[in-house]
Amino acid sequence: MSSSQIQATEAYLTELHGGNAKEAADLLLPGNRLNMSKMPVAGMQTTYDAHALMTDSASSATAFACGIKTLSGVIGMDDAKTTSFKSVAQLAHERGKKVGVVSSVSLDHATPAAYYASVPSRSNMNGIAAQMANTGYEFFGGGGIAAPTGSTNVWDLLTANGYEVRNTKESIEDLLTHPRDRVVAINPWLQDASAMPYAIDIDEPQAENNLSLAEITDVAIKVLSGNGGLNTGFFLMVEGGKIDWACHANDAMATIGDMIDFDNAVGMALEFYKAHPRDTLIVVTGDHETGGMTIGHATTGYTAYYDRLLNQNTSFQYFQANQWAAHNAANASGYNYTLPNNLESNTDMIALMADEFGLIYSELNDYQKLKLEDAYDKSMCGANDNLGAENTLLYGTYEPIIVTITHILNERASVGWTSYSHTGVPVPVFAEGLEAKNFYGFYDNTDIAKKIAKIIGITQALPIVK
Ligand SMILES: [Zn+2]
Repeated sequence: MSSSQIQATEAYLTELHGGNAKEAADLLLPGNRLNMSKMPVAGMQTTYDAHALMTDSASSATAFACGIKTLSGVIGMDDAKTTSFKSVAQLAHERGKKVGVVSSVSLDHATPAAYYASVPSRSNMNGIAAQMANTGYEFFGGGGIAAPTGSTNVWDLLTANGYEVRNTKESIEDLLTHPRDRVVAINPWLQDASAMPYAIDIDEPQAENNLSLAEITDVAIKVLSGNGGLNTGFFLMVEGGKIDWACHANDAMATIGDMIDFDNAVGMALEFYKAHPRDTLIVVTGDHETGGMTIGHATTGYTAYYDRLLNQNTSFQYFQANQWAAHNAANASGYNYTLPNNLESNTDMIALMADEFGLIYSELNDYQKLKLEDAYDKSMCGANDNLGAENTLLYGTYEPIIVTITHILNERASVGWTSYSHTGVPVPVFAEGLEAKNFYGFYDNTDIAKKIAKIIGITQALPIVK
């Protein structure tokens, strides 16, 4: 999440609320702004790691959780992978504060892991989850555990360590009024890779028993501030992890949906802050930018058309697993990619693009139609008449027709993408509350951990060896 994701979301909210994203007066209305961008203190942090301008999420999280730059893929250790370091969450816990870790992706994923684990490789998710079960932290919540079994049965270890795992909406919401320590609250609907669903998908049929990231955050705050937590204090890390996944896939609306969900979680933290303004600090930032998202595109120049995003009602992920899977199964037999108008002649596909994405085929230019035809060929039968390198650039590792639909929809709104990976731009930092002034300026991502450690009273300089 960098400034493009923030500006795109505020432009979308402006159109959603009946305003015009071409008008500053509309963009500036408080109701069209995110909680985070209205916070009083803003700064900016670098995102590069020890050996790459473009970081991965393991090394960036290690930087702002433990205060040390490392290699991509490494969590809570130095770049030689020999020394392990304490995170600010562990340091807070050692000082008697309660600790919670929340993510919309799995709890053993890179960012949450950096707040409790030290491993040479983020792919050792079972090892990470085992370390999670041994933390003694009071609350984990959001996504599930991607690798619960392997050398350790994490469910058994959690139970042995006094944790209760809850995965129904009712039992999780019960924590709001009956908080207990050592609880793992897993969202009932896990969509992909043990992650919560994209926020844009929660109107879909499976959504009945779903909690938003904001609702999980509310539960986390109630658990951590209950049972004496107001006296001890607490540290809570909340990650909107699928903002990154949506940007990898170059899906602006899935990104914006999760940006809003994450910002609503920020709103929950702000509510707590308003009740406890003298001793609460909130810091909001991104670990890096993903996708090279930008505000503007070669096809739209100086004009934005965010109204064109308003009719997308499904993420690339949900569409691929459902509507697309059904369409592909019904149309794949005897498919011939050398025919010139496979897509144009398929009224079902033209209707699907209109109904699910708001992409009206008849409004597209010839080049956009050609790109859709090539992508449809590739998705339907695995072949088209493009060069291999052309396909790599156009689709990355994503389903060709779906990433082409979002590319064209997004470019028509004036949203551009340059990568399917992380990019190296610095990212904004917003802060409010106790000692928030420390977050003004331009600084390194390791300084996030160092500033937080100082504010919670750690006198030793970071990084601190485990
Ligand atoms: Zn990523």
